[in-house]
Amino acid sequence: MVRAVKHLFPTKADEIHADWQWQLRHQIRETSSLLEHPRLQHARIQQRLRLALEADRSLARSFRFALTPYYLSLINPDENGHCPVLEQILPAPDELDASIYADPDPLAEERHMPVRGLTHRYPDRVLWYTSHHCAVYCRFCLRKRKVSHADSAPRKSEQSAILEYIASHTEIKEVILSGGDPLTLTDAQIGVMLAELKNIQHIISIRIHTRMPVTLPMRITDELCSILRAHYPLTLVTHFNHAAEVGPQAFDSVRRLRMAGVLVLNQSVLLRNVNDTVQDQEDLILTLLRAGIKPYYLHRCDEVRGVAHFRVPIETGRNILRELRGRNPGIALPRYMIDLPGGGGKVPYEPDYLQEIGTDAEGHSYYRFQNAFNTEYRVRADRPHSDVD
Ligand code: SF4
Repeated sequence: MVRAVKHLFPTKADEIHADWQWQLRHQIRETSSLLEHPRLQHARIQQRLRLALEADRSLARSFRFALTPYYLSLINPDENGHCPVLEQILPAPDELDASIYADPDPLAEERHMPVRGLTHRYPDRVLWYTSHHCAVYCRFCLRKRKVSHADSAPRKSEQSAILEYIASHTEIKEVILSGGDPLTLTDAQIGVMLAELKNIQHIISIRIHTRMPVTLPMRITDELCSILRAHYPLTLVTHFNHAAEVGPQAFDSVRRLRMAGVLVLNQSVLLRNVNDTVQDQEDLILTLLRAGIKPYYLHRCDEVRGVAHFRVPIETGRNILRELRGRNPGIALPRYMIDLPGGGGKVPYEPDYLQEIGTDAEGHSYYRFQNAFNTEYRVRADRPHSDVD
């Protein structure tokens, strides 16, 4: 049974403007604006907002505060004044503490940048920073060093150098359009980018990494869907962290993407006080499945400066995955991933079901596994007798 139903749909009283450009024009950019919000009058939240206000005075220049009226409508604190949506966007005094993780770029994305605006870390794929803007700025963002800074945003003139690099490196099979959020670009810009990439013979996969279905689902317009449909096949990887973020508009945006032939996956980050319980993760993955999204990755929060307060022990994610397996459809289970600091790449860190590799009395080697219900089974490692030469 999916919990948190009260979070799933904004109340009728919410006026949610359906025009994505209106939403961006009316972005809330002052933490002080939240103090008057009728849903945020709980004493604990007011206290938290005042802390956010204070922290933002020092943080605003390095990482902006902004959210859409739509995302604001998803805020719905419980009786204790806790809201997983709010926790993701409020500046915190802990962000100022650089004593734990001081590196703004622990994944070495800038070091592996052959041309400005493109990271080439793995031989087979590149990550293109198409925009440094987002509809909502998330406090756990791994690219705080550049996202939200207008002056660091990619220049139009750099696009041709990026395309030339991709075209001249035939080992590249996949291009990830990321940022910031690539869907802050206009439809025309997105159309040109996709057409150019589709013209490169060795590119077989294009992934769009965007939080728009979460933070501004009205961005998934019919016009945008026509462009995406015209460049089939495409994968869109979105980023829901909590079931409370999957409102009816989000459902609808994903349905339109799926109708346009787009494969929709979700990657989430394991965040303290947001989604770090088995129940949070179960609600999330089942809600995603209902919405037509395949849960893809659950990331450990990276060792980025200013996000340490979101991190939980490394075993938490593994234990959550262990609890989820066996009581949820396999297709709903994401992989738990650690991005190795220093640019080492991603590795899965998942529950270990293998207990032993041994040899039985007849000399046959076997693998001894424990299933999700703690029952043990042996599996013969060698080929069946009839198959042996
Ligand atoms: S939408 Fe993505 S890129 Fe933008 S602030 Fe959030 S996590 Fe960072």
